[in-house]
Amino acid sequence: MSTTVVTGSTSGIGAATRAALREAGHAVVGVDLSGADVTADLSTAEGRQRAVDAVLDRCSGRLDGLVACAGLGPHVDDPARIVAVNYLGAVDLLDGLFPALRAGSGPAAVAVSSVAAAHLTWETNPIAAAVDSGDFSGVEKAVASAGEYRGQFAYAAAKNALTVAVRRRAVEWGAAGVRLNTVAPGAVDTPLLRAGEDDPRYGASIRGFTAPLGRHGRPDEIASLIVYLLGPHAGFVHGAQFVIDGGADAALRPHAV
Ligand code: NAD
Repeated sequence: MSTTVVTGSTSGIGAATRAALREAGHAVVGVDLSGADVTADLSTAEGRQRAVDAVLDRCSGRLDGLVACAGLGPHVDDPARIVAVNYLGAVDLLDGLFPALRAGSGPAAVAVSSVAAAHLTWETNPIAAAVDSGDFSGVEKAVASAGEYRGQFAYAAAKNALTVAVRRRAVEWGAAGVRLNTVAPGAVDTPLLRAGEDDPRYGASIRGFTAPLGRHGRPDEIASLIVYLLGPHAGFVHGAQFVIDGGADAALRPHAV
């Protein structure tokens, strides 16, 4: 039986992924703020280290899969916390658990990014310098120009940086035999999306935009893609980003290939 770690395992896409993996016969170690196998606050360096240590302890240093899914939505009015959870909460776990994945069987990892990753480029990403220097103390200032929409700016910046982080690791991870990809969901019906719909700044635009397929995604639909990417049928899939958004990105940016 293979063992996979899922962060953000108690809600939304993470919970659906945990359920799908279990149904497929895999052991799952869930990580979340509460109610999970491993309880940790991924917004802090201590919490991220505690999560890595607790997972290594539980899996005896050998892991077959990792899904970095925990995240906060753009409605959260704390850019530093959004970047800490959505970027560092994923990348520090990827890096911290890489040695255990190398020791696993057919190992693979998936980071949950977002279609928002393509809302800016690395060259215009306000946290690119922080990512490269490792000093995240200036995040608030870096996104301040977005005013009351700084949460959205920080969210897109963190997801863009996460997708770049995965691509940057493709050579080293590929050589080590550990596949690593991102999924980039559009609007998926979860508590995170519903909080955005209820937010006075974002609610109208979220409710007013419908993907070409005419609905939001379901968490289990994203989980299906993640399970595929972790499994042997995706054996040559590495360093790639999979948009899963009901056609929204194609409708908004038809020439962006
Ligand atoms: P959700 O709110 O249902 O689940 C997020 C999970 O992350 C929760 O279980 C929460 O407790 C956990 N989490 C938050 N902060 C944490 C912290 N500091 N430490 C540990 N765990 C923490 O949301 P979701 O929609 O299922 O989101 C899952 C991922 O999918 C996120 O990374 C999100 O950015 C991404 N995503 C979601 C959508 C969408 O429309 N729902 C779209 C694109 C990307």
